[in-house]
Amino acid sequence: MVKARYQLIMPLRKYQKFPGNNRFWCCGALMSSRQVSILIFCAIIIVVVSALFFAFDARFLVVNVEPLGVGVIFPVLGVLGLYFSMSFLFKTGCIDSGILPRALPDEIAYMQSQGDEEPAGSGRTLGAPARYKTVQHMGQKVKLKWCVTCNLWRPPRASHCGLCNNCYENFDHHCPWVGNCVARRNYRYFYLFLTTIAVTGVYMMACNITVIVLASKKMGFGDALKTYPGSVIEFCVSGLAVISVSGLSCMHTWLIARMETTNEDIKGTFNPRKQGRTVHNPYRRRNCCLNFLFVICGPFPPSLIDRRGDMTEEYQAALEGDNSSYGATSSVPKLPPESPSPVPPNPTPPPLAPDPTSEVISMTPTASMEVRTEGEEGVVQVTVERSDSSHGVGEDETQQLILDRAGHGQQ
Ligand SMILES: [Zn+2]
Ligand SMILES: [Zn+2]
Repeated sequence: MVKARYQLIMPLRKYQKFPGNNRFWCCGALMSSRQVSILIFCAIIIVVVSALFFAFDARFLVVNVEPLGVGVIFPVLGVLGLYFSMSFLFKTGCIDSGILPRALPDEIAYMQSQGDEEPAGSGRTLGAPARYKTVQHMGQKVKLKWCVTCNLWRPPRASHCGLCNNCYENFDHHCPWVGNCVARRNYRYFYLFLTTIAVTGVYMMACNITVIVLASKKMGFGDALKTYPGSVIEFCVSGLAVISVSGLSCMHTWLIARMETTNEDIKGTFNPRKQGRTVHNPYRRRNCCLNFLFVICGPFPPSLIDRRGDMTEEYQAALEGDNSSYGATSSVPKLPPESPSPVPPNPTPPPLAPDPTSEVISMTPTASMEVRTEGEEGVVQVTVERSDSSHGVGEDETQQLILDRAGHGQQ
């Protein structure tokens, strides 16, 4: 009764019926995956180590380095390390990292009208959308995969996270430590978080060693360890963090320099040994510095899910059509049926990997998606940039495929 009255005053928001496996906080302003316990654990570890630093090391250094007049810089740097670590941690773990909104029935119907790539004998119902679709884009063949959960053609670099149950733009990986998928909208924060933790950890270890050395001169090494146990604990925890995080930070530095995601690196999407000599990474800039500049300082893409929007009748009807995947309707043929089909079964499955001899990568305008050539905010936007060595400096070819999902998921 109270809930019904509350809903009369405060209408339902879309995040309250969101089909993915996400949790929402602060009236939908923040979101994460279901597994947030490790994120909270990470935050507690950072706060505890910082508290030990301020309680033991910073206080000792302010007093004992005071003659040099620089003692105050130690707690200031500690505060900056704590602030940026926590800021990047929660920015990575508590924002929409790039969810692709699921297709609505009218979009699926449009996609069905394009269902002309059904390979003969695939075992699927005739007229059903094909699982893969290849388009020519920027001199490469781009193969898009149909997501049976989200009912859409995944744009290039997108992938479906089974834990979060969403498709993500520029999917990198699902990180349990930050409690979120790392994808297009939070990758820079994830990388900055790793780098900040590694640098802060090294800084704190240096302070720990300085404290123990200075204290040892006054009271001996054994008494110094007993007097400043916080420095010892801090040194051990910071050492573990540095060992584990610095390696990850270096790996992502290497990936950014190559302009690849972890997912693409694992799959070997742009690996000439796996995909053929003609394959190249169309997203790579002219040099590593431009890659870093784009990743760290590039435009911040808008969220495509209107999670704080009011529940519309269309959205409600779509939800009631199929709770498991609100874009699906009973009229949409499902993929792939196990039952015998009128077409003789073909033991050869449709090709799953890009043709290694092809010159192309893949790109898929979807049934519900209209390919445009101009940027436009508020739509699902896939930007593919390619540096062609035959072009002059500054003539990097930029093409934008705007997969129009107008009317849905805009914020
Ligand atoms: Zn999906
Ligand atoms: Zn995930």
